Amino acid sequence: MSVPAHLKLYDPLEGMRFGPEHCFLCGAPTEPPIDSVPVFAYWLMDRYDLADRQIQLLDQSIVTYRDLRIPCCQHCRTQHVEPLEAQAQQAAELGLEGWRALPDKTLFLWLGKMFYGVFITELLTELNPLVMPRYPLAENAQMFRRFHAFFQTFQALRVPIEFEDFTPASLFILEVDQREDTIPFEYDDDLTTMGFSIKLGNTVLMTCLADNGIVRDAMRRVVTDTERPLHPIQIAEFKARVYYGAYLFNVVPDYFARPLKPSDDHLVYDTLIDDITSAVFNPWENSAYGQSLQEMWKRWNIPYTTIMRDPSQPLSFLYDEHSQPRLIETYEAPN
Ligand SMILES: [Zn+2]
Repeated sequence: MSVPAHLKLYDPLEGMRFGPEHCFLCGAPTEPPIDSVPVFAYWLMDRYDLADRQIQLLDQSIVTYRDLRIPCCQHCRTQHVEPLEAQAQQAAELGLEGWRALPDKTLFLWLGKMFYGVFITELLTELNPLVMPRYPLAENAQMFRRFHAFFQTFQALRVPIEFEDFTPASLFILEVDQREDTIPFEYDDDLTTMGFSIKLGNTVLMTCLADNGIVRDAMRRVVTDTERPLHPIQIAEFKARVYYGAYLFNVVPDYFARPLKPSDDHLVYDTLIDDITSAVFNPWENSAYGQSLQEMWKRWNIPYTTIMRDPSQPLSFLYDEHSQPRLIETYEAPN
């Protein structure tokens, strides 16, 4: 049977259609710059006064939040992107409880949209022949496989897709203890491992995309132990664990849409991780994890040697020396 248009999947990697002339969700021709949506929605830029704030891209060029846009046809904008942003805005107005009440799929799509926008901006900048990137994304084959897997599930923003018994990404919602919290908004990402995190007031949302929730599963204990307000330095440690876990994650899930029957009004995806040649995670190395900590703790300026004083147990603000959860009200520099 022929697949109805609204159930037909789009794959931008076929022919590398990432430029401004194709809708990012459906591939329809777009007219730049009119047919586009902001990566960080207007409501988000208003709420945190971001429009003129600057972002440094990997090639060292500077853009503002306002400049970050992705091509989007009118249909996808009004039918898919704007309704998603309306849901996110509503959650943001309710704060932490609002985010917690949001369906996983909605949170995945919302974080995925921003990740996509930043990723594509970096990629297109890098394809500019005048640019010498520090981390050439385009040469990273494993990353493209992961990006492809991510995009297959991200089509759920446009096509009604049911994920059978799995979540396509790890999702985390953290609460920031406000006492020493000075930063209302920030985001960070790791494009090669598909990690993305955004802080909105006292809520930190984080995802590791295209991992079928496996990074989160592996962190179960830490997730349980962090269901409480956390000091910003603890949040940073949590993020270091996710980013490092995502870095060790070594497989790419496959997704299969079940064959459609004439009466079907949505697609059903099954997933498979069928890579018998490699372990799901590469082995954990404290020295490399310590670097991830140092990077996430940049604001506190903790030397690597201090972090690694005990090489078998890098410095932690989430756990004490007996591996019990630590409470931190005010930060004191480790001596
Ligand atoms: Zn479209």
